[in-house]
Amino acid sequence: MGPIAQQVESLRSYFNTGVTKELSWRRQQLNQLLTMTQTHQQDIVDALKQDLGKAEQESWLAEIGFLEDDIKHSLKHLAKWCKPRKLSTPMLAQPGSSWLQPEPLGTVLIIGAWNYPFQLLLAPLVAAIAAGNCAVVKPSELAEHTSALIARLLPRYLDSNAYAVVEGGVEQTTEVLKQKFDHILYTGGETVGKIVMKAAAEHLTPVTLELGGKSPCIVASDCDLDVTAARIVWSKWMNAGQTCVAPDYILVENAFVDKLTAAIVSKLDAFYGQNPAQSPDYGRIINARHLARLQSYLEGQKVICGGQVDENTRYMAPTLVQNPALDSPLMQQEIFGPILPIVELERIEQATDFINQRAKPLALYLYTRSQSLEQQILAGTSAGSVCINDGMMFMANPALPFGGVGNSGMGRYHGQWGFDTFSHIKAVMKRSTRFDIDWRYPPFSAKKMKMLKWVK
Ligand code: NAD
Repeated sequence: MGPIAQQVESLRSYFNTGVTKELSWRRQQLNQLLTMTQTHQQDIVDALKQDLGKAEQESWLAEIGFLEDDIKHSLKHLAKWCKPRKLSTPMLAQPGSSWLQPEPLGTVLIIGAWNYPFQLLLAPLVAAIAAGNCAVVKPSELAEHTSALIARLLPRYLDSNAYAVVEGGVEQTTEVLKQKFDHILYTGGETVGKIVMKAAAEHLTPVTLELGGKSPCIVASDCDLDVTAARIVWSKWMNAGQTCVAPDYILVENAFVDKLTAAIVSKLDAFYGQNPAQSPDYGRIINARHLARLQSYLEGQKVICGGQVDENTRYMAPTLVQNPALDSPLMQQEIFGPILPIVELERIEQATDFINQRAKPLALYLYTRSQSLEQQILAGTSAGSVCINDGMMFMANPALPFGGVGNSGMGRYHGQWGFDTFSHIKAVMKRSTRFDIDWRYPPFSAKKMKMLKWVK
């Protein structure tokens, strides 16, 4: 048995002791994770700076503060989530009661992505701990500094009998995926998502796949232009566009495109200055391969702002592309970088068809004051999440589930949704033995049948 198999086996044995099921123990582990995050805030900021050039405030908002809020939310609601959830009981089963009883799944695997390498690995872990599981976490090797930091810190703060970090790339992930887990939560691209699902099928392990895709951003001409431009620029160019829920492209009426473009350019200037390469608030591309991929998307396109690249610092300027060819890689692949194509429509109502002709997105954004357009888009399209008049802010509400639909993923987490994902929601019925009417027992008779039909 190899070291990874041994590690998983030892987590399984520990789960069987029942320690991780204790509510007080779950609380203590969550508090330890909170202490780790708070004590090592500067180390986390430094690692994220090295991996992605993230500004401290951005790291706090989208990684450290996000995780802290998630842990505090779980601690606050944990007792309620664990309680049996009462349900009604039909007449036929009276006297009796029915309820749902959450129980931990066992030992789970969490595979993280590189773009928010701290939060995307540890927020699912919060849910797994809250639900009473043991877990293996596998950080993305592409964010190497954050991966190393997590591997160093986690065993110091959490019970190593219950939680293990496996670092590494394809080889190690392949080995981990050979093991039997009780659930796998994977965050990343579609191609590896299929590999994960195939590996999980070998053991009939259920999966949550947090994938990506092209998230559209519909901007109607009746929007509040100034606020809209600010929110688009904030949500698109945070982390240099390397965000799974960043707006991937804009849909706008051609009569309004010039105004919108000018407002976006003006906000870019206000946020990052004339030369974003010198802004301490603007991030860097994760590696040379992704920079080259993004550069190739600009071939043959009409770049109306940005486009500059510095390979030495893995910098790519915030870039706007006007009317991209719809069959070009820019419009066929998820961009996952600082390029924002602007697609013009004759009428904004055409956005529904445009979106429905493509794979279901992870997020959909709509900027408008019109209730009827809002209703039309909500009813006429499908997406993992929708945010009206803002970008990504839905992520700040732990009461909302986070997950995709169709090609953008399956399953969900955050708050109670994460707790439920890592729990088996066991159905329980309890009957009284005080009386035992014989209608359902043989020998059957017409009278018994009549009574059964009546009681149903
Ligand atoms: P990545 O390269 O970091 O890969 C993700 C994980 O898969 C890593 O831990 C990596 O080690 C593992 N992996 C890579 N190749 C593998 C293989 N052949 N076999 C087994 N494991 C392998 O991340 P990525 O795929 O570049 O991530 C980008 C994608 O992730 C985008 O599509 C983005 O939208 C999506 N994403 C989604 C979310 C979300 O929460 N829904 C968040 C972030 C990123």
